[in-house]
Amino acid sequence: MNENVTAPLRARAEIDLAALKANVRSLRAHAPGAAFMAVVKADAYGHGMLPVARAAKEAGAEWVGTATPEEALALRAAGIPGRIMCWLWVPGGPWREGVEADLDMSVSGLWALREVSAAARELGRTARVQLKADTGLGRGGCLRADWPELVREALAAQAAGLVTVTGLWSHFACADEPGHPSIAAQLTEFREMVGYAEGEGVTPEVRHIANSPGTLTLPETHFDLVRPGIAMYGISPSPELGTPEDFGLRPVMTLKASLALVKHAPGGLGVSYGHHYVTPGPTTLGLVPVGYADGIPRHASGTGPVLIGGKRRTVAGRVAMDQFVVDLGGDEPAAGDEAVLFGPGDAGEPTAEDWAAASGTIAYEIVTRIGSRVPRVYVNGTSGAPDVRQADRAHTV
Ligand SMILES: *Cc1c(COP(=O)(O)O)cnc(C)c1O
Repeated sequence: MNENVTAPLRARAEIDLAALKANVRSLRAHAPGAAFMAVVKADAYGHGMLPVARAAKEAGAEWVGTATPEEALALRAAGIPGRIMCWLWVPGGPWREGVEADLDMSVSGLWALREVSAAARELGRTARVQLKADTGLGRGGCLRADWPELVREALAAQAAGLVTVTGLWSHFACADEPGHPSIAAQLTEFREMVGYAEGEGVTPEVRHIANSPGTLTLPETHFDLVRPGIAMYGISPSPELGTPEDFGLRPVMTLKASLALVKHAPGGLGVSYGHHYVTPGPTTLGLVPVGYADGIPRHASGTGPVLIGGKRRTVAGRVAMDQFVVDLGGDEPAAGDEAVLFGPGDAGEPTAEDWAAASGTIAYEIVTRIGSRVPRVYVNGTSGAPDVRQADRAHTV
């Protein structure tokens, strides 16, 4: 799509905003009773935080969620209205700015509650905080043994007008593994910890625990709000659970490059660093001008799939920093022709899932790691016209 405007680029990640919006609507239909938080951390899993946040809001997301406060503050500074939540704080973080920007700020422990309360006191304002429970992920959040003290201090800070506890929340460890016993155990723990806090007098606006797999497959996890990330980008949280189509989702990112060179090569030619591929006979080689600096996994050396001239090819030899080679088997596409590394898959191109399988990782990592040197080109935007401004490129650089 839109080759005319994008063809001269070495490489580009086309971001289909119509697909993103359709995915938001589809996910909302899976959780009709819950509010929707679009998770746009890590530059929207590599898709570009601001265009994605705007499109998600247009599709009805009431909330936007990020990991770091810096991400959340950037959203507010860019004019994203409504609720913005962030959850990954360290001591000395920008609590004052967070209060001023009306962020919903996650608190996992007493140090955070004290820092956010101090910021609110200095500003003479009330901070929105959400208490995070560790219900069994064993990562962030407050474990049950420490919960009563955190709840007590939060209620005291609320009584003093320093904070409003707007939410109680948690995160799953294994929601993408159907029937995993930790799912039911975490839900029980969550209900009990929420019950305790409410019994003590907390009146949360939202209680939430569902990520993408929870949103798609576990209705009992929806509570007041769902927080899908990967599914919004049209990628299944796990191939075990189903394909994107099974869930009514469509991949949003298509990664393309322009062939930098096509040449005839004799048999027995060692290809790329280390000569891990040697041409089996006379053939043609194509040079694809993206490498690990662009986020192409080096672990996909010898395995990564790519569509060129209507045929699936495989990375020949090592993925280098800026480029890799494919054996074109005698075909002669022209330099400048398109190589599609991954996309929705319906034009024969591989998917991010295929790249994940080829490099021993998950599709989350494949899209998120695409580097800042690859411009994001927004297509199917609100105007219906391609957006070729390489919008918001600056924030990814
Ligand atoms: C990343 C993240 C999500 C979204 O997870 P997906 O598996 O991508 O849906 C939700 N909540 C929290 C706390 C997260 O860190």
